[in-house]
Amino acid sequence: MRVCVIGSGGREHALAVALRRTADVVVTPGNPGIPGSTPDASAQIDADLYVIGPEIPLVAGLADELRSAGKLVFGPGADGARLEGSKVWMKEVLRDAGVPTAASGAFTDVEPALAFLRTLPGPWVVKTDGLAAGKGVLVTGSFDHAAADVVAKLSGVAFGDAGRQVVIEEWLDGPELSLQCVCDGRRAVPLAPAQDFKRLSDGDAGPNTGGMGAYSPVPFAGPDLVAEVLERAVQPTLATLTARGVDYRGVLYAGIMLTSNGPKMLEYNVRFGDPEAQAVFPRSTGDLAALLAEAAAGRIESEPQFDDRAAVTVVLATGGYPLDPRTGDVIEGLEKADALPDVTVFRAGVDRDADGAWITAGGRVLDVTGTGADVATARATAYDAVAAISWPGMQYRTDIAEIGHSAS
Ligand code: AMP
Repeated sequence: MRVCVIGSGGREHALAVALRRTADVVVTPGNPGIPGSTPDASAQIDADLYVIGPEIPLVAGLADELRSAGKLVFGPGADGARLEGSKVWMKEVLRDAGVPTAASGAFTDVEPALAFLRTLPGPWVVKTDGLAAGKGVLVTGSFDHAAADVVAKLSGVAFGDAGRQVVIEEWLDGPELSLQCVCDGRRAVPLAPAQDFKRLSDGDAGPNTGGMGAYSPVPFAGPDLVAEVLERAVQPTLATLTARGVDYRGVLYAGIMLTSNGPKMLEYNVRFGDPEAQAVFPRSTGDLAALLAEAAAGRIESEPQFDDRAAVTVVLATGGYPLDPRTGDVIEGLEKADALPDVTVFRAGVDRDADGAWITAGGRVLDVTGTGADVATARATAYDAVAAISWPGMQYRTDIAEIGHSAS
């Protein structure tokens, strides 16, 4: 089978590595660090299966375009991708499906938004309706900060049109879980659970980012919890989508908060997580290409398979990320890290300079995944590899997958 992966980051690199075990893989546009990258557009590439990585092309309808050209596509059409493209719509679907989630209100005008904000005890949660690369969510203990954020978002100053409608939410507390499910339109099968770390700095301080690290498996997410999330949230969501005429073939990634009142859905993403994919796919042992092709064709027949080893992924970001990422710095030590056992360094935002040296070319640059018999071993392996790599201003968290830590 020949698979075309669409995207250019660490997630697509991890997908390509996992798919390549059983398929020929081409990645468009990819990046200079991902083998098999080509500048050819997906429509020009002849493949048996197209796997769309990022949310932006999904929301823009790339899956529909490819399907109407007769291609087999893993990824929802624009109708299903609205789950991620509009938090307001996602909340509607959750309500219809009876899925537990944070109480919320949707607003386009400042005064009613602030009035609703005042009714909440805090901390306060303000989200852009539209896509904001994981950065459109503010969680703050300061009412004034939340109020200013509402004004900045609704005016279009903060996130352009993506913020002209906001969702204001009840604050939820508890450890978070990422459950990525492969869907064939009717049925969802879960991949190994993961936990990701969205805040920039250690101890969950600093702004939300696209993700600073992840690990899998998650000690508190056993089969019973996974089954509960599937039964109470993911399957009812798929049924509601079907009732709305949406044939959802792709990833439903459930972002869940495990509150003292049970699991509550924070959000759905419509694609694999980045960096969750970099922690989950190195553990997959089955035929991923076959599974995704079956889902794309509307009938999952195989089961995803994972080995017992753990994986921990640490994201290396540039100075200034996420607000003002600096690029163009020479990366030292990459080959040394690549050569370490049980380490894979996924290339997210890299390029080569005129002398052939690796340079930084995006906010999140490298995703360093270590594997091992357990999370602690995988973690130590990942951080040993991180220690080999450097460039001016490199940022990373030192507490990814730390024992006793639960991301929030
Ligand atoms: P989202 O993109 O909606 O998943 O939000 C990004 C991150 O913000 C989540 O992973 C949580 O850490 C945090 N967050 C979102 N909604 C809430 C909420 N209602 N209560 C507490 N934290 C939240």
